[in-house]
This record gives sequence, C-alpha cells and structure tokens, in this order.
Amino acid sequence: MENRGTAIGAKATAEPTENPRDITSTNFRLAADRLGLDAETRTLLTTPFRELRVEVPVRLDDGSLKVFLGYRIQHNGARGPAKGGIRYHPAVTVDEVRALAEAMTWKTSLVNIPFGGAKGGIACDPHAMSQRELERLTRKYTSRIQVILGPYRDVPAPDVNTNAQVMTWLFDEYSLHHGYTPACVTGKPVELGGSLGREQATGYGAAILVRELMRELGRPLAGATVALQGIGNVGSYAARALAREGCRILAVADSKGAVFSSKGIDLAALFPHKAATGKVQGLAGTEAISNGDLLELECDILIPAALECVIHRGNAERIRAKVIAEAANLPTTPDADQILERRGIAVLPDILTSAGGVTVSYFEWTQNLQQHFWEESQVFAEMEKILVKAFRNVVERARSEKISYRTAAYTIAVERVARAEKLRGT
Ligand code: NAD
Repeated sequence: MENRGTAIGAKATAEPTENPRDITSTNFRLAADRLGLDAETRTLLTTPFRELRVEVPVRLDDGSLKVFLGYRIQHNGARGPAKGGIRYHPAVTVDEVRALAEAMTWKTSLVNIPFGGAKGGIACDPHAMSQRELERLTRKYTSRIQVILGPYRDVPAPDVNTNAQVMTWLFDEYSLHHGYTPACVTGKPVELGGSLGREQATGYGAAILVRELMRELGRPLAGATVALQGIGNVGSYAARALAREGCRILAVADSKGAVFSSKGIDLAALFPHKAATGKVQGLAGTEAISNGDLLELECDILIPAALECVIHRGNAERIRAKVIAEAANLPTTPDADQILERRGIAVLPDILTSAGGVTVSYFEWTQNLQQHFWEESQVFAEMEKILVKAFRNVVERARSEKISYRTAAYTIAVERVARAEKLRGT
C-alpha cells in the first residue's frame, strides 16, 4: 500500500469492456480441454464454493454514515483452506473478486502449497479516508466476514491498497470474536507473528522468476532493460531485486503517470521522491510519460505490477518488450494473449510470477500454527526452492506439449485441483 495522499486512478489503461472473469474462464477452458475434463468437473472447478457480500457501514470523521460494499469469495478449498488477499479500491466489483479468487486457486495449486483460493475486496477509495476511518472500515468488514474465516477455513492477506496495518486490524478483530488467532491472516507485522520476508516476497519472487526465464531463454539478465507498471508493494521490491541483478529500470509508473530515463531510473532517489510527493512524476533526471506509453516501450522485460486487464487487444500489437513477467494478477486479456503468442513475446503468467507472496504467506501460517519462527535467510531459500521447482514444471510442460507458459501453468494447476476433488469424492 502506498503512502496516503496518493489518488488511485481508475483502470486507466484497461479497455472499458474487459471483464477479468473472461481471463480466468478462458485460461481454465484451455487447460480443461487439454486435460479432457468432463462437463461436471468443469462446472465443479469453476463455480465459487462460497460468496459473501456484506454491507459495511462506517461512521466517517465528519460524523456522517457511509455504507460500503464488501465481498469475500472462496473459490475452492479442495487442497486446503481458502487463501487470498483483500483489496481496497473504488473499482472493486463482484466479478473482479470472483476472478481474483479463482486465480488464487490455480496459483496455490501451481506452486503446490496446501491452500485453495479466495479473495476479498471493498469498493472504497482508501486514499480519501483517514487512518481512523480505514480502521473502522476494516474492523466492521472483518466482523461481517469472520464467520467464514479461520486458520483452517480461509486465511486473508494483503493486496492492492492494504498492508500489514490493515492485516493487524483484521487479526485483532478476528481474535476478539475467536480468541488469539495469529494464523487467521498473513502479511502481519513481524512483531505480531508476521513472517520475515513476507513484505518483500512477491516482488523478490517475481525477480527470481524473471532470472529463471531469462536463463531459460538464453538471454542475459545483467544489463537487461525493464519497464515496470505499478511501484507499490510488488513493483517496488521487484525493481530493487532486478536492479541488484544489474537490470536497467527504464521506466516506472504509478496511478498518476510514469517516468522514463534511458540511463535507468535511480531507485535510491525514486523512493524518497515518491514518499515526499506521492507520485513518481517529477523525479529529477526523468521524463514524464503516460502509463500507456510505458507499456509500449522498447525494452527487454515488461512487468505489469498494478491492476488487471492492462494488456488488451487495443495495445497488444504495440507492445515492444521481448518478454512479459506478470507480477500483477490477471493483467493480460485472452485476446492480447493470442496476439502476444503470435508475435513471439514470451509471457510468464501471473499465477507463477506473483506466487512468491502466497508462498511466504504459507510459511507465515505454518510459523503461526507452530509458534516457531524462521530466519529470513530460511524464508527466502525455501521460497526460491518452491518457485524454481514450479518454474521448471511449467517450462517442461510447455516444451513437451508445445503450449504457452500460461496454458502449461494452468494445466498443471487445474490437474492437481481436479485430482484433489476426485480423491475427496465430490
Ligand atoms: P499496491 O497497492 O501496493 O500497489 C499498487 C501499485 O499500482 C501502486 O504503485 C499504484 O499507484 C499502481 N497503480 C494503481 N492503479 C494504476 C493504474 N491505473 N496505472 C498504473 N499504476 C497503477 O498493490 P500491490 O500489493 O503491489 O499489488 C499489485 C498487483 O500485484 C495486484 O495485481 C495484486 O493483486 C498483485 N499481487 C500482490 C501480492 C502482494 O503480496 N501484495 C501478491 C500477489 C499478487
């Protein structure tokens, strides 16, 4: 979650008609076709297990009452408790939450950790709210959804515009109802049972997967140029890790616009500038460009790390990156996927690229259940082992079946969940 005071843009670069559910349903169908799944299994695997829509009344600081709409959707729990983040954003809709919940089922399955998939969201503008209002919103939302949460039922985590503080309110409110239960949520501060490395995990994980991808493609990572859309939790740690590997970060964007420098963005100057001004634009030594321009820059690696549907049929022909690593969830629409595949642009899919976060959330959950904590070095080493194994599985499947990385990833993930459902005798 970024510093307060930053306005959140609408999905400025998305096509107005895109629905993120089309992304999950198309990707699922391609995998189900390859696996020869029957109609009943398809229905079972695509129908959300449980959907909760809640009214969230909040007394604002000016004394008025505002009612927000919130959701918690559990897509599938055949392989373990449902798992997935909670998003605060004005554009949250039930279809968005459904799609993100389903993507979590495939992500946890792909990296083979014992969870299912869920997602939550509240349609709100957190940047227009005070901390006290956000706390009241989070506590009220938690009190409305806590009946379906729990360490062995559904374990939330941070997502867009939520952070360790929001997870703390959720943990505290849940514990008021159920007794001290740190394993009810991940992404907590380390002082309250959070895991070392969780904050960095998604971005660092994405950088590890980019490294593996470049190695697989026989391209050097040191000196590679990177364009990065979204410089919040995921984007900022991905940028730091890739810069350490010798990449040149050509451009970065937040919701207010993007900046470009052919010499490479100085991250040591970028983060203080962003913290002080609330935006990336205005950074000394950079040129202001639009978010759309950033996506179409000539570069080696394009990393969407903001919102969904940003690479669509309207811009896919103009993308000039050699590879795309999807650190955001669902950034590429099915039409765009076909265009990118035809144009020979390798796409490392979201359910793999962004899986570092949920992997370390899994470690946080196990540490909480055991009340035994790990060193940071152990967290990162175990995360890397899981991500690299999943990457190898995807590459081998893609190669042997001559399919895209995305279809390979979905095929592996869907196969595991279908098998779990069958074993459990649904
Ligand atoms: P965040 O709130 O910390 O940061 C989001 C970033 O996106 C900010 O820099 C924001 O300014 C930018 N942004 C918002 N709207 C934009 C727009 N229209 N154009 C360009 N930039 C825009 O969120 P995050 O946690 O970094 O999540 C980013 C993405 O990664 C989301 O798709 C999320 O679902 C996914 N993800 C997050 C995690 C995690 O652990 N936080 C894990 C897996 C996947």
